[in-house]
This record gives sequence, C-alpha cells and structure tokens, in this order.
Amino acid sequence: MAMVPHILTENLTLQYRRKSSTVSALEDVSIDIPPRSFISIVGPSGCGKTTLLKVLSGVLKATKGRTLFDGRSIEDTDLSGKIGYIFQRPLLLPWRTALGNALLTTEIARKEIPLDERVAEARRWLSLTDLTEFEDRLPHELSGGMQQRVSLCRALAFRPPILMMDEPFAALDEITREAMQEELLRLWSVTQSTVIFVTHSISEAVFLSERVIVMTARPGRVDEVIDVPFGPPHGEELRGSPRFTDLVQHIRHKLRGGQAALETAS
Ligand code: ADP
Ligand code: MG
Repeated sequence: MAMVPHILTENLTLQYRRKSSTVSALEDVSIDIPPRSFISIVGPSGCGKTTLLKVLSGVLKATKGRTLFDGRSIEDTDLSGKIGYIFQRPLLLPWRTALGNALLTTEIARKEIPLDERVAEARRWLSLTDLTEFEDRLPHELSGGMQQRVSLCRALAFRPPILMMDEPFAALDEITREAMQEELLRLWSVTQSTVIFVTHSISEAVFLSERVIVMTARPGRVDEVIDVPFGPPHGEELRGSPRFTDLVQHIRHKLRGGQAALETAS
C-alpha cells in the first residue's frame, strides 16, 4: 500500500453557486487527519458532510482555503488509486457475483497485477468479511448487510491508503449496523489506512472513532473536535458503559443546541 498521507484542511469554504442563489455549504473548516487515523464527521443532514468528502477527494474545488496532503496542496497531489469511496447504498453491478464485484476496483486501478493475484486479494477480503461461501452469489441473492460488505471488499481490494465512507450503514437495521461497525474496526486494524467516516449517528461516530468532528449546519462549520479518550480497539461492551453514553449525550446536547439556535433565528 502507498504511504498514508497526513491530511490537513485550512479554512475551507465552499459555496455552491446557482443562477439565482449561492448556498454556503462549508465555512472555515479546518481539520487535521493524522495518518492511519479513524475520524468521524457527524452532524445534521445538510451540514456539508458529503461536500467535505468531495473536497477532500478532489471532486470539488474549495471556494476558499486549502487542503494539504503531507504539506502539499491537493491540486499538486496525484490521488489516483489513493482513495476508496463507500456510499450509503452498495451500488453493486447486479450481473456480477460477489467475487466479480469485489474484483472491480483492481480491474480498473491495478490492471498491472496478474488476474490470479487480484482474485486472491479479493478472496482475502471476502474471507475477512465472512463472505467466502457467498462469492458466487449475485447481489440480489445477498442481504443488505452482505451487499454492503461486498462493497467494502471492493473498496479495500485495491488497498487504498484512505477510505472515505459516506453514511455507509444508514440503510441497515440496527443489529446489522452494529455488527458492521465492529467488522469495520477489525478491517481497519488490518489495513492501517486512514478512515474518514461520515454519519449522522452520534453513537456510531463515538463507537468507531479516535476523533469526532462535530459539524453544525447552515453554513457547515466545525463546532467541536473531540479526541475520544477510549478510541478503538475496544469491544462491543463499550456501548453500554457510562463513559460512552456520556460522550454521546454531550454531542447530542451540542447538536440540539445548534438546532435550537437555528429555529430561534429563523
Ligand atoms: P450532508 O451530506 O451533510 O447532508 P451536503 O454536503 O450534501 O450535506 O449539502 C450541504 C448543503 O449544500 C445543503 O444545504 C445542500 O442542499 C447543499 N448542496 C449540496 N449539493 C449541492 C449542489 N450540487 N448544488 C447546490 N447546493 C447543494
Ligand atoms: Mg450527505
């Protein structure tokens, strides 16, 4: 795997300009993402989380401010093959098996590697996500959680140093979702990559992360950066502990406060 970069943003501002109006999606967002860290971005719908991921992956150019990868501006950084992206829906090719879907990214990004090695790599991830016996199944023959695990395999198979996940578990039921969170932490300990995880679930952010970035809406700003004192590795039992529920409660109050202020203002 390529070196995992240190990512830094300085006063990022992003405005979507439309004919009649301008939407200020991000304002003065400065965040620090050390190599191999697990960072969550949490905030209400519309606060600019997806926009921030798009800026960090070079899809959108900031209106003001800058993004640095190891001190070098994002415009001067070759990001090809560096970022794995996982969306809320698994977006699998319906005519391809689980293995065929898991192979897709290496087919595109790692063509130089012989097919048998790419298959071995895809199978390794399918095994790590307990999908070995389902590798010949088509997406419609898999549960929602299994489909999202295939999409994880697809992203991890080309070994991206950075994994960006945009509300990846939002469509799953709670039990599956918690199991996926635990699985993701296990995978992260194997990959040694940076994970930037977007969610509007506070408990999900606190459970997964070493650092939680709390955002408020309109315009999207960083409200608080929390270094989680009991970050991973940890077990499922953390969820019931007072230190966990206290931190979740703290963030909830913050976000509620922001919401109340918004309602008063409008
Ligand atoms: P989140 O992912 O936190 O729900 P988004 O980043 O998708 O938030 O959106 C932030 C704000 O920018 C919202 O007010 C949204 O309506 C607006 N927005 C997002 N994409 C566009 C776009 N392409 N054009 C105009 N406004 C947009
Ligand atoms: Mg979004």
